[in-house]
Amino acid sequence: MSKKDLKHWIKIGQEMIADRQRRIEQAKNWKFDTVATHGLYDLTQALEMNNGSIMEPVYMSTAQAYEDSYHMEAGLSYQMPNWCYSRIANPSTYFLEETAALLETYGTDLQASCVATSSGMAAIRTATEPFLIKDNSLPPINIVASAKVYGGTFQQFSVRRGQEQGIDIRWVTDPTDLNEWVEKIDAGTRFVYGEFPSNPSVDIFDIEAVAELAHQNGIPLIVDSTCASPALTRPLTFGADIVVQSATKVMAASGTTVVGLLIAKHNIVSKVGIDEMKADFATWTKFWPFRDNGPGLHAMGAIMTLNDIRTLRSRIAQMSDTALIVSKFLEDHPKVDRVLYPGLESYHARDLSKKYLQLVDSDNNAYGYMLMIEIKEARDSENINTRKFYDGLNMIWRATDLGRVKTVATMNAISTHQQQGEEGRALASIKPNAVRIAVGVEHPDDIITDLENGLNQI
Ligand SMILES: *Cc1c(COP(=O)(O)O)cnc(C)c1O
Repeated sequence: MSKKDLKHWIKIGQEMIADRQRRIEQAKNWKFDTVATHGLYDLTQALEMNNGSIMEPVYMSTAQAYEDSYHMEAGLSYQMPNWCYSRIANPSTYFLEETAALLETYGTDLQASCVATSSGMAAIRTATEPFLIKDNSLPPINIVASAKVYGGTFQQFSVRRGQEQGIDIRWVTDPTDLNEWVEKIDAGTRFVYGEFPSNPSVDIFDIEAVAELAHQNGIPLIVDSTCASPALTRPLTFGADIVVQSATKVMAASGTTVVGLLIAKHNIVSKVGIDEMKADFATWTKFWPFRDNGPGLHAMGAIMTLNDIRTLRSRIAQMSDTALIVSKFLEDHPKVDRVLYPGLESYHARDLSKKYLQLVDSDNNAYGYMLMIEIKEARDSENINTRKFYDGLNMIWRATDLGRVKTVATMNAISTHQQQGEEGRALASIKPNAVRIAVGVEHPDDIITDLENGLNQI
């Protein structure tokens, strides 16, 4: 019997790494839809691990078995690729992660890695926490973040990091104003954070300029591009260091799974952390803090997300067309005060929306599925008409959700942005008469008919 020592397994590991690189290079030559459909799962993988199944396996197992002690030793010392234990990695999650990394760097030769998490909030925490480590050579820690962020993010930063841990959170109230970012960053800033477009206020910022500013200060730019998705905007290709996705939303549009993704390009900028962390942030995170904190994703959720991602671009194209039709209808309606949608000529940052929101593999702009409207009220502080409109919807779901194949509407001041209070809502520009509409894949005529149902109640 030939002896399989540690060297043997390390050599096998090197072959596995070379084979993965071969599959990455193959996928780098494909168009977006092809990458989204196949990722790194090919015939060799299917035959080796999955009885030839053309779909990726759902590995419902907590742990991997090893052939012998050397195999285990090589794997657990990270000297050969292995998945070990599903809190750290899982073969199903692996295929989701590889596809997401390829999509966020699509069209470039950038290298990136991804770690999938149990929610978008977990991805945000996993992406930000490593930059908040103690370093006595630096001034007290602060974070510079756009105030136009998802309610959960606002809470995670202001309450969990700010109030509970004493970190100074500096909110940028107008993210389109570069000077505000400049003024708030100083030697204590550990990272810069923005949402693109912001949920629910549909605001944007100049990713390239803010990334450059961050790098001049030796710190990373982290972007939550949930509401754009890689089918419209790929922040890493505009200079951002890390992208977080609540893949719960349009990436897993069927609405079965809460899931987050953290995608980091290799060789990020940071003034704290070891070289290994900066070289491949997502992989380092997975091996160390992510492993210790435990916000891993279940294999079933990974494969359900992957299944939806295959049709991401075509869905985004259709949803964007419909959202533009719907936003024009609402903008012309006498009972609607204002419509915020990056595809409208009235949008406040039209140059930026044209630059950054483009349907992948086309020459066309597309502006996504999310719009925010404000219903006309007698007084600024009221939401009487808004409630009448909202409660008059029939087909459109009243829920705190977005990115679905089904159209969903949300009154944000009483739901997603309730906890942050009036002051926090003012900071994020969420008025009591605001309704976020996340357009699905229904026919635009039927969506408009239902919006009319609501508006007729006023
Ligand atoms: C929903 C959402 C999150 C949080 O994601 P979960 O998957 O619900 O944890 C973060 N950012 C944005 C922009 C979101 O819309």
